[in-house]
Amino acid sequence: MPLHESEAIVLQSYPLGEADRLVSFLSRSMGRMRGVAAGARKPKSRFGSTLERLSHVRIWFHERETRELVRISQCEIIESFIDAFRDYPSSIALALFSEISQAVLPDREASDANFRLLLLASQAVKRTGKPELPLAYFALWSVKLGGWLPALDRCAKCGRAIPPAEQAYFLPRSSSLLCARCRQPVARTLSANALVAARKILGERLDRIAEDVAPSRALRELTDCMLDIIEHQIDRKLSSRELLEPPVA
Ligand SMILES: [Zn+2]
Repeated sequence: MPLHESEAIVLQSYPLGEADRLVSFLSRSMGRMRGVAAGARKPKSRFGSTLERLSHVRIWFHERETRELVRISQCEIIESFIDAFRDYPSSIALALFSEISQAVLPDREASDANFRLLLLASQAVKRTGKPELPLAYFALWSVKLGGWLPALDRCAKCGRAIPPAEQAYFLPRSSSLLCARCRQPVARTLSANALVAARKILGERLDRIAEDVAPSRALRELTDCMLDIIEHQIDRKLSSRELLEPPVA
């Protein structure tokens, strides 16, 4: 049984048996994996708080030949996000990051882009305490990296370019964007401000985008469209999404 060492982000952990934890984590070099941390729920466990959600860690584990679960032998914290979870709006955004990562990332397929996205977005929530922009950024890039992003500058029906100052209409069931002439009653509005924010997000690193790139309401419109696309792709609702509060102003 070879021992692996990897940088990783803990996605979720669940109690298992009397004293163990089942841990879902994103390894930078091996992708999304699940493993057992034996004794992790004992009072003086060597794992301490390293297995909390979104902990950025260095992890050591053994592969077991015939089983899907690895055996986690050691874990050291690089960066903790426990404090960020104490703020309610931040905690919902962080919960969505981990839920989306678990839902959309394939088993054991390394993706450095997805790893960096998750870390960058979590750090931005922790640093600023303002989850709206990091959430829109994470949702849009998760969709883009998944290969599901529709054209944002052109109407999917008539092909007309959508001018920068014009709003567009997003159709959840086909994940497509329509212009004002082709809009349908079931479509979500994507304001000009939301489209400006989307262009910025696709062109700049998160920490180089001004927090006030768009009003909270516009960032939320963008987030909602992207979460619709993700839910359509995974064919179920994201449970943390229901906890999102309406945007302020
Ligand atoms: Zn059109």
